[in-house]
Amino acid sequence: MVIELVPLTGEVETTRILEALKENGITGYLTGADAIVVPEMPAPLAHKIQALPGVKGVIEIDSPFPLASRAYHPEDTLVNVMGHLIGTAKPTIMAGPCSVETYDNIVEIAREVRRAGGHVLRGGAYKPRTSPYSFQGHGVDGLKMLAAAREDTGLPVISEVTSSDAVPLVAEYVDILQVGSRSMQNYPLLQAVGQSGKPVLLKRGFSATIQEWLLAAEYILAQGNPNVILCERGIRTFETATRNTMDINAIPVLQHLTHLPVLVDPSHGVGYSAYVPALARAGIAAGAAGVIVEIHSNPADAWSDSAQTLNFQEFEDMVADVDAISDALAKRRLSTQAKTPVA
Ligand code: PEP
Ligand code: MN
Repeated sequence: MVIELVPLTGEVETTRILEALKENGITGYLTGADAIVVPEMPAPLAHKIQALPGVKGVIEIDSPFPLASRAYHPEDTLVNVMGHLIGTAKPTIMAGPCSVETYDNIVEIAREVRRAGGHVLRGGAYKPRTSPYSFQGHGVDGLKMLAAAREDTGLPVISEVTSSDAVPLVAEYVDILQVGSRSMQNYPLLQAVGQSGKPVLLKRGFSATIQEWLLAAEYILAQGNPNVILCERGIRTFETATRNTMDINAIPVLQHLTHLPVLVDPSHGVGYSAYVPALARAGIAAGAAGVIVEIHSNPADAWSDSAQTLNFQEFEDMVADVDAISDALAKRRLSTQAKTPVA
């Protein structure tokens, strides 16, 4: 259940509500989202709480992730990044190299992202690599290169943050904080990105269930940050022909369970550039709000994830396909609406 508070409700009122719950043996969790979450509450108590000062309403929600649930927030959440809305019918395209390499290279790639119709530049500055001997990223210098590419192109930038201590620094340079697959259950990190108030792209842990993933999103929302974007990036299965298995099922399931926008990452989802465009198309057809892909001026030379990186031509073709699919779906929806008789 969620006790919705009147915005800016003071400490005296919130303490009184928490005390009233406690007297009835119930612990309420005060979130930063103008809401107190309670596991469950008998109807007479809910009525009593409803009448207390500072209470806007008591909403019955039977979900382990109430703030993320569709029941709490029936409309789709739109995340605003420098004026671009993520979560509309128009797919958001995020693209860039796996790792930020050099200033010239990131600016060249950023210009291509903009030219091909992309909306956000990606690039890793802190790389959580499976091997300690692989390139770990340029750190703050990489963030500075990304900020310079934003200056050059006007595109917002996204980059991964790997520890809670680094959140204030990374948040200074980027427009969206990426929480990587390996960090999805790093709870102090989730709380820190929640407190930052910045848009957060939360990647699915490669062995995480949809429920575990939504509970991770709930950690961010509970800090009062509503700007959460989910990203399906493939899960580990028994299949070895591809790097991961992009879970298309997750897209409609999430749309049913949550109001948060869902992006797909076919680069990590499948792991081979030849298959990436097909998975991007599948993601959009299944209802994803956008795509995040790895691209490079010369994929064979990319410092990380070279096998799954698209070249500029492949990227341009992918954007055209993704737009064609979403335009076709939008057109059909419009014509279906037009044909529906008004009661
Ligand atoms: C990345 O985006 O380059 C990355 C490391 O992704 P993931 O966390 O999904 O493996
Ligand atoms: Mn990568």
